[in-house]
Formats: sequence, C-alpha cells, structure tokens
Amino acid sequence: MSAATLDLADCSRCDSCDLALTRQQVVVSRGNPQARLMLIGEAPGAREDATGQPFVGRSGQALNRLLLEVGLSPERDLYICNAVKCRPPGNRRPRKSELSACRPWLDRQLELIKPRVIVLTGATAVEAILGIKGGMTQLRGQWQSWNGRAVMPIFHPSYLLRNPSKAAGAPLDLTRQDLAAVQQRLCEPWSAFN
Ligand code: SF4
Repeated sequence: MSAATLDLADCSRCDSCDLALTRQQVVVSRGNPQARLMLIGEAPGAREDATGQPFVGRSGQALNRLLLEVGLSPERDLYICNAVKCRPPGNRRPRKSELSACRPWLDRQLELIKPRVIVLTGATAVEAILGIKGGMTQLRGQWQSWNGRAVMPIFHPSYLLRNPSKAAGAPLDLTRQDLAAVQQRLCEPWSAFN
C-alpha cells in the first residue's frame, strides 16, 4: 500500500500483518495532530491495547511526568504514536515483517503531521526511522536528522521504570536533559531546522 493514499481512519480495520489476529484494537495516536513535535515509540502494550491509546500505561505516565517537567504538555505539544500500531503478543519486540507492514501507516502520520522535531523512544523506533542499530546509551541525546527533521533518540520510558534512580547522570536525569533539549529546539526559529 502507498502511504500517500491511506486514510488514517482505515487503520483501525487494518489486517496487513498477523498482529491483527491477537490485538484487541489498533492503537493509532494520541495528542495534537497540529503539534510540531512527534514522539514515536515501539508498539502498544496491554493497557494501550485495551484503551486504544498509545503510552497510557505506567510507561506513558512516566513519560508524561517528564514532559511536564520540561514544560511540554503531552496533549497540546505532542502527537504520540508507535512504529507498530497493534500489540505484539506478550509485549515481545515487533518483528521486521511487522514493522515493514505497518510502515505505510507511520509514513502517513509523518506526512500529515509534518513535525519539526521527532523524538524516538527506544532502539526499535530508532532503527525503524533512522536505520541505526545500537545501544541507546550511546544514541540517546545525540541529535540526528531525517528528511529535514531534527530527531532526538531517548531511552524508552519502560527502561526508566526499570532504572528509577533519581541521581544526576542516571537514565531518568539524562532523559529529562534530552527532553529539555527538544523543548529548547522547538523554540528556535524555523530557519534553524533547514
Ligand atoms: S500492526 Fe500495523 S500492519 Fe499490522 S495489522 Fe496492525 S495496523 Fe496493520
């Protein structure tokens, strides 16, 4: 399927990969479609599958707290989605075939939202968009570029839940710094992005 011809409303009926067999519902997005910032995660979890909203479980709540701490409203300032729109069974990592099958939906979202800045949470999202494989310890906090957009890789919030230390230099603190850099970047004039 070609991304340009897709109607996002049809995403809820998609059966292009086997995840359609085990999902409760397709999880397309939450937040503001007019936002200049798009956050892309890996795939929905159990709570997301049950509610139809991305990043609403414990990980999403941790993410919301960090966003608010740096002055970003999750509902006003971001459009939030995942690389794969249906929950992989047992929360396993999405397969390459599932990422490719779902990519046209993500491309359509990118076309419609036209974000200035993209935040990628976790290694799967980084690999899906940037094609970079590697440890998030090295990748996080390093600005990247994709199709003229500034891209910031950050730790996945589920990793932050497993590493809750509030010490300076711990993953939580580093992620707060990364999101603060994103917030600052959004305040720069449009010319700074080209
Ligand atoms: S994961 Fe994506 S491609 Fe697979 S069924 Fe869901 S919406 Fe369709």
